[in-house]
Amino acid sequence: MKLVSDYFGCMVFDDKVMQERLSEETYNTLKRTIKDGRSLNLSVANAVASAMKDWAISLGATHYTHWFQPMTGITAEKHDSFISPDEGGRVIMEFSGKELIRGETDASSFPSGGLRATFEARGYTAWDATSYAFIKDNVLCIPTAFCSYGGEALDKKTPLLRSMEAINRQTLRILKLFGNEDATSVKTTVGPEQEYFLVDKELFIQRKDLMYTGRTLLGAKPPKGQDLEGHYYGVIKPRVQAFMKDLDEELWKLGVLAKTEHNEAAPSQHELAPIYATTNIAADHNQLTMEIMQKVAKKHDMVCLLHEKPFAGVNGSGKHNNWSISTNTGVNLLEPGDTPAENAQFLLFLCAVLKAVDEYQDLLRISVATAGNDHRLGANEAPPAVVSIFLGDELTEILECIEKDQPYGAKEKELMRVGVHTMPKFPKDTTDRNRTSPFAFTGNKFEFRMLGSSASVSGPNTMLNTAVAESLKQFADELEKADSFETALHDLIKRTITKHKRIIFNGNGYDDKWLEEAKKRGLLNLKTTPDALPQFVADKNVRLFTEHKVYTEKEMHSRLEILLDNYCKLIHIEGRTLVDIAKKDVLPAISAYSQTLANTILSKKSVSNALDCSYETETLTQISNLCAAAYSGVKDLEAALDKFTKNKDVKKLSVFCKDKILVKMQEIREAIDALEMIVDAEYWPMPTYGDLLFNV
Ligand code: ADP
Ligand code: MG
Repeated sequence: MKLVSDYFGCMVFDDKVMQERLSEETYNTLKRTIKDGRSLNLSVANAVASAMKDWAISLGATHYTHWFQPMTGITAEKHDSFISPDEGGRVIMEFSGKELIRGETDASSFPSGGLRATFEARGYTAWDATSYAFIKDNVLCIPTAFCSYGGEALDKKTPLLRSMEAINRQTLRILKLFGNEDATSVKTTVGPEQEYFLVDKELFIQRKDLMYTGRTLLGAKPPKGQDLEGHYYGVIKPRVQAFMKDLDEELWKLGVLAKTEHNEAAPSQHELAPIYATTNIAADHNQLTMEIMQKVAKKHDMVCLLHEKPFAGVNGSGKHNNWSISTNTGVNLLEPGDTPAENAQFLLFLCAVLKAVDEYQDLLRISVATAGNDHRLGANEAPPAVVSIFLGDELTEILECIEKDQPYGAKEKELMRVGVHTMPKFPKDTTDRNRTSPFAFTGNKFEFRMLGSSASVSGPNTMLNTAVAESLKQFADELEKADSFETALHDLIKRTITKHKRIIFNGNGYDDKWLEEAKKRGLLNLKTTPDALPQFVADKNVRLFTEHKVYTEKEMHSRLEILLDNYCKLIHIEGRTLVDIAKKDVLPAISAYSQTLANTILSKKSVSNALDCSYETETLTQISNLCAAAYSGVKDLEAALDKFTKNKDVKKLSVFCKDKILVKMQEIREAIDALEMIVDAEYWPMPTYGDLLFNV
């Protein structure tokens, strides 16, 4: 039997391999440059590249690629082979330092939102040496950032790295104030829990909607849904079990710490949780996880659906972004400590998060805004579109006591003074077991729960890191000037609680009463993607990102443009797909069935007028009416789709997509789903929800 410990990370050029294959000097220089975040000099790069190539070739690799995350939401690769001609007309395998650290790529096929002038179509990719290279399908993949020649970010990784640097800078200032001089760098950590569906491949290929859009645009509810809740943590079916085993192995080879796999709320829905890692690595690993999930599923004759809402009326899929801040000395800064001083520090970081989430609710909402996720948020299966923080009763009470200068706890006589009192630990079970909060404190980390399943975690973490960096910056500015640190700290924490406590909500986020209450508190409710995205370039957000050097203003505008454009294109494809299915598959099938019914009525009547035809006649009438409604909807939808190309303003177009195209699609769907319930199953032109959800 293969031991996991023997093959874990066997396809990764990790620290162990580096130590084995690099000279001591090269290894040390590489480590130092990685640590200081500087760029490699060419002779070191050459040595690393050569060792990397030999290692990769020994494992069967023939090609290499700079692996990056363009704005399209998937990863991109351009494979180059190692071969290079030698003098004898044969080839040798070559890979230079230059090729390792920097690649040129034709950027013209990736969205740039106007950043790249057409005459300058080139972009370049640069090695993110903090994320290890790995081999996938005989290709050496080098995790890279992707920029235009002007240095503007064209990908999701660059801003993420910049935001990590911003929070590092500000956190170190705070730690110094607390007398912590050992920590020399601080990193945010992320553990993304990934939800997904598995469906049978044979059935999948019969659903054009799933194939073209990733979600079903039609489909009546099956008689059995997720009502019985029997699937959650239920027994995993053998076929799925085999898939999960394979998936774990593939991920482990790539050094991805896949830890738990279980069933989710909906039938055919599952979840994978990794052990957390440094944020940029977690982001790379999550992209890799999604890719490998799809690949392994195919091997098992299944298709892995990563769409946020593949099935209407059935729980959608999300991605929980567990987030914390850790020092290089191994201290989790969101872990309540054992001493009063540690607690004061914990409370300050807690306040930094409260302030950040309150002041930049819009950014967090924007960071999860996609067409797919609009079907989940606020639909009683995922957090509402209103951002709030769950702290749990205990921690909330402590904050209240600090704010009001009141004693904490039944026995406690003294007032709760920051820096004087120790705090109780918060075992996970007393913290959030209510899953309705968008942003929950879970004992020693926050769990941001609004992300959609297909999202890259880079965007949300870029927002979160930068917003928290800004709180910390303001805190440090104030505390560094204070005469008495203790007093200033206490005042600052008190003041922050008072000012930002409106963001704390421990109740049921699915309750309509919460939405009313949130409105009273002045919290934002950006319901859909077109509502949310334009806020990205609000003055306060431009100030935030430029101040911390995470995005330039130009980059922000280009990103907004790309995101809106993606949204519109996606809805347009959905609309066209629905027209196609309706006109070519569903309506013809219904028409054929109508003929059968009509023939039956005629035949019966020809035998005897006394024969009862109520079933046939009533069904035929219902079918004809619904069919007419569907057909008229399809014509309207076609007309709306026609207008699409004429609208040049992408912001207006996104609103048009939401208000006209999506609404029309819903009307058509209602008619067709009603038809599905009464049309002979033999005639129905595609697998039903029942087939898709219960057939794996
Ligand atoms: P659950 O939420 O399912 O009860 P856990 O809370 O134990 O499970 O863990 C959920 C995820 O949080 C895991 O992916 C785990 O690695 C991650 N996690 C745990 N600690 C941290 C941390 N300090 N920073 C980021 N993620 C973390
Ligand atoms: Mg969780």
